[in-house]
Amino acid sequence: MTPQGHGDLLKEVMESFQEASDLLKLEPNIRERLSHPRRILIVSCPINMDDGTVKSFEGYRVQYNIARGPAKGGIRFHPEVDLNETIGLAALMTWKCAVVNIPYGGAKGAVRVDPSRLSWTEIENLTRRYTWEISPMIGPEKDIPAPDMNTGPKHMAWIMDTYSIIKGYSVPGVVTGKPLSIGGSEGRPEATGRGVVYCIIEATNELGVNLTEKTAAVQGFGNVGSVAAKLLERTGCKVMAVSDVKSGIYHKKGLDIPKVIEWVGRNTFLEGYPEGESITNDDLLTLDCDILIPAALGGQITRENASRIRASMIVEGANGPTTSDADKILNEKGVFIIPDILANAGGVVVSYFEWVQDIQSFFWHEKEINDKLKSIMRNAYNSVRRIAQEKKVTNRMAALMLGIGRVAECARVRGLRP
Ligand code: NAD
Repeated sequence: MTPQGHGDLLKEVMESFQEASDLLKLEPNIRERLSHPRRILIVSCPINMDDGTVKSFEGYRVQYNIARGPAKGGIRFHPEVDLNETIGLAALMTWKCAVVNIPYGGAKGAVRVDPSRLSWTEIENLTRRYTWEISPMIGPEKDIPAPDMNTGPKHMAWIMDTYSIIKGYSVPGVVTGKPLSIGGSEGRPEATGRGVVYCIIEATNELGVNLTEKTAAVQGFGNVGSVAAKLLERTGCKVMAVSDVKSGIYHKKGLDIPKVIEWVGRNTFLEGYPEGESITNDDLLTLDCDILIPAALGGQITRENASRIRASMIVEGANGPTTSDADKILNEKGVFIIPDILANAGGVVVSYFEWVQDIQSFFWHEKEINDKLKSIMRNAYNSVRRIAQEKKVTNRMAALMLGIGRVAECARVRGLRP
């Protein structure tokens, strides 16, 4: 099973691209140009292991499209990630940056590795070697990586340092999601989860729903899931269940999320959390609650479990968590879906702010960042909803039409040379 779980992310991304292109009546020549990734680099990363042996790991960097600006996209460390999945994720990044209207193209990077089997020294060796191998492709004007699954500020600091060594001077703008001390941005660690919650607030306002009377479940308790759960709880919504790769926890009256975060901070996993009952990932996805936030892997909501999902709103913190079969079932059931390329765009928006601050060498306060993020997410949400209502399409199709339409317009006005 790939990290996409059931199904094939690239195939589904390309099918939805074709569907949106039909609705946009995109001319064949533009469609042809947007159907292919622009650049792909496949690298082998040999590293010294702690036991004195050398081991090689395969890595990728894909720039899907750069018509709107430098390529932007995270780096994932996962044992089952492959090139096709990386291309699919890079295409999603392209549409996502366009949905929130930031001047970036889309990219993605990945290394096939199970980091839980490596020491921190080995992970540092791997991150630095991967950076070295992809260094001809990245740079503040070209392609700016960021964190994704199993990578975080520590990895971003090593990327910034390795790239700066190659250049001979400090280049903070080569990567985002860095620690504050080396040019990171206030608000970046929380940005994706915050954006998820801004979308929920916009949606519940639009639908006339009182969040304080609602319940939620969150799959995945990492960067995105834990922040989304924490900020959602602050709105008065009851977060009844959360899960991670090993297990899940449930409390009928709502979990105390700051306490759960503290537990995970000390114990890495949710396992052993003393309050509530344990719950499987399948139970969590089909829990009787109002809002479901998948914030772990792709391909979690499938043909097998979609008809059993009871939430009336799904907000996709993860990339590609819903297969296209499942999407059809959920739409028939009338579930209100806020799709990944809108719901989880908060991370790339604040990454954009970080890059702007690095280039200007002038840093903003957190309030300014959160206010700007809120305004961008609100505009993007309302633009998507407007298209959904005018064209009578799903929110997912509306977001794709908005994003793909903007990329197409750039390709069109730039022309094709040589
Ligand atoms: P992370 O590594 O910080 O956390 C991932 C969480 O998912 C962990 O709690 C892990 O235990 C859990 N998990 C892994 N496999 C699971 C499984 N099979 N079942 C249940 N839980 C599982 O990663 P993250 O940065 O929070 O990213 C999560 C998702 O959000 C990914 O799909 C990623 O592409 C997407 N995303 C992340 C960002 C960001 O800024 N970090 C931005 C946009 C989208």
